[in-house]
Amino acid sequence: MAGERILLIEDEARIAQFVERALIYEGYRVSVARDGQSGLSIARDNPPDLVVLDWMLPGLDGLEVCKRLRAASEVPILMLTAKDDIKDRVLGLDAGADDYLVKPFEIDELMARVRALFRRSTPQSKPEILRFADLTLDTGTHRAYRGDRAIDLTAKEYELLELFMRNPRQVLTRDVIFDRVWGYDFGGESNIIEVYVRYLRQKTEQNNEARLVHTVRGVGYVLREEE
Ligand code: CA
Repeated sequence: MAGERILLIEDEARIAQFVERALIYEGYRVSVARDGQSGLSIARDNPPDLVVLDWMLPGLDGLEVCKRLRAASEVPILMLTAKDDIKDRVLGLDAGADDYLVKPFEIDELMARVRALFRRSTPQSKPEILRFADLTLDTGTHRAYRGDRAIDLTAKEYELLELFMRNPRQVLTRDVIFDRVWGYDFGGESNIIEVYVRYLRQKTEQNNEARLVHTVRGVGYVLREEE
């Protein structure tokens, strides 16, 4: 992980300094922007490997910055937010954020999430084509297809679908999904799985296609064909 470049966009000097120091201590190279506009220009001139993005920023807010970053690249985006509400979270995920951290946070947790995002975004060595029913997933290009229909996935949606497709017809518990997709214990912030499953369903069930990702109540989820 040595030398990966992180762009931190945070207007609160105290938090920015604290996070910057911690990231540098872990061996990352860090650029700090104090507002969205300068964050975007840094990202454009010198593309980072990961972005830590505060939601509440002067001028362009974090959501808008997230959308613009996402329009330009697949860089992993970790959003910092004081908003711990499902609707806000969905907005952020819609805007293309890969993960969330609610303020106030422990610095160790931020580090764990940064490491998890880097681990997730490291390309697979040998591309494979995974198939289940009429779903196809190319682990090289990260493209998914339902029949001939191409499906655009965000980084996390891809990870989740890949996990299901590598374990077809097996019930995956929420703990297993957290561990494999997010790389750490998510604790109480568990509704993020529901949010991602909902997105996967929206994307894989267009045109009345049969459901493939099923809920197993109180346990988790399973990829299987309709019975
Ligand atoms: Ca702020």
